[in-house]
Amino acid sequence: MRMKPYGIFPSLLFLCVVLSGRSSADLGRFWHISDLHWDPTYAATSSPDRVCASSGTRPAPNAGTYGHYNCDSPWELVLSSINAMKAILPDPDFIVWTGDDTPHVSDDQLGEDAVLRIVGNITRVLRQTFPETKVYAALGNHDYHPKSQLPPEPNSIYNRIAELWQDWLEPESQLTFNKGGFYTEELLKKSGYRVLILNTNLYYDQNKVTENILDPGGQFEWMDAVLMSAASKNEKVYIVGHVPPGFFEKKKRKPWFRSEFNRRYLGLIQKHHAVISGQFFGHHHTDSFRMFYDSKGNPIGTMFLTPGVTPWKTTLPGVEDGANNPGIRVFEYDMTTLLVKDMVTYYLNLTYANVVWERWEKEYRLCESFRVPDASPTSMHYILEQLEDSGCDLQKYYEFNSVSYDLSSCDADCRADHVCAIREVDFDRYEQCIAKEGAPSTHPALVPLLLCVAVSLYGTSQ
Ligand SMILES: [Zn+2]
Ligand SMILES: [Zn+2]
Repeated sequence: MRMKPYGIFPSLLFLCVVLSGRSSADLGRFWHISDLHWDPTYAATSSPDRVCASSGTRPAPNAGTYGHYNCDSPWELVLSSINAMKAILPDPDFIVWTGDDTPHVSDDQLGEDAVLRIVGNITRVLRQTFPETKVYAALGNHDYHPKSQLPPEPNSIYNRIAELWQDWLEPESQLTFNKGGFYTEELLKKSGYRVLILNTNLYYDQNKVTENILDPGGQFEWMDAVLMSAASKNEKVYIVGHVPPGFFEKKKRKPWFRSEFNRRYLGLIQKHHAVISGQFFGHHHTDSFRMFYDSKGNPIGTMFLTPGVTPWKTTLPGVEDGANNPGIRVFEYDMTTLLVKDMVTYYLNLTYANVVWERWEKEYRLCESFRVPDASPTSMHYILEQLEDSGCDLQKYYEFNSVSYDLSSCDADCRADHVCAIREVDFDRYEQCIAKEGAPSTHPALVPLLLCVAVSLYGTSQ
């Protein structure tokens, strides 16, 4: 059993609403965007089989200007998301961009030049739209040819992407990026603050190149050394990457990392948690988070999984209707401690956008929706406990998980998949969690959906 650190949270119901409205000199803001997956073949034609290459054999009827749930992003959607960032928060402290720019098509439909052209075009728009803003960009498994085969050594793609990103990378960063696709810098050149941009595609189980390597690119050893040095210098650190450790919450027993890499990553977070203030990843295209605990079960860290811009319905067997609305996210953080204070997710209802206009709107603010004072590990652990115990919070989380695309009800099996994926990054502990949570009558029966709607309507009228 995990500890329940705060029993007082429900009484803080409206505290965060009050807090979130304050303007504080210490409160910083940054954007996190991920998984734009531009499909240059997209054309909103009326013949459903000829709309986009990324739909594969699936037809895409009634395709509109801003995309289709069976397709990756048209250029209009890429532009729309970046313009929405500019309109909502034009001057963020920095931008975190966690990769995956190319479409879900076979390798022979792309090639190295096409991959670089796609990465280059999105880079150009981001740079033109935010010319004064520092961008911390990580490679995704789709930012390479052949896809997911990112090597632990220098190659022409790392080299050419380092050139594309030269305005954003410090000279020192270009050196390690060229070698292994990862780098570290002082956050905004401020002493006492650091960011690590990892190439966790090296740990992806689809990556055959790194299969029998103990520490691909020496990235674990490097990460350990950087975090050790950060501790000695009293730095606060953010970690940024694409493929996350742990499990996919929409499919039972679906990890991404090879097991030894997963164990090693988790070990490093547990060892250095005192200096790590947040981890920001993508790849899922869904909105979720991962908890990290010490050996006594105390929450020591959170990884935030930011949803994708592409609405593309996953073809992973076993995932039903795994599409999402395009999402982008602002993090609010304490500039002194780097503690994540809150996050606001904005989204485009794709169906509405295609029929009416490209309306990017606020989907939710974390503190407000889950009644927590901040997004600290303790608060995120509290939210996780609410997902286990409150059917209404679970349902709310579940709808946000697909960026308000899938509004069906999250049943007990769905709850086990999400709760265990969030709580247990470790492979063995996840398995134990699934066995326990999957057992009948572990929790009270789920609340009928209608009641949650009534409760939330009552809540918002306060
Ligand atoms: Zn992706
Ligand atoms: Zn990915």
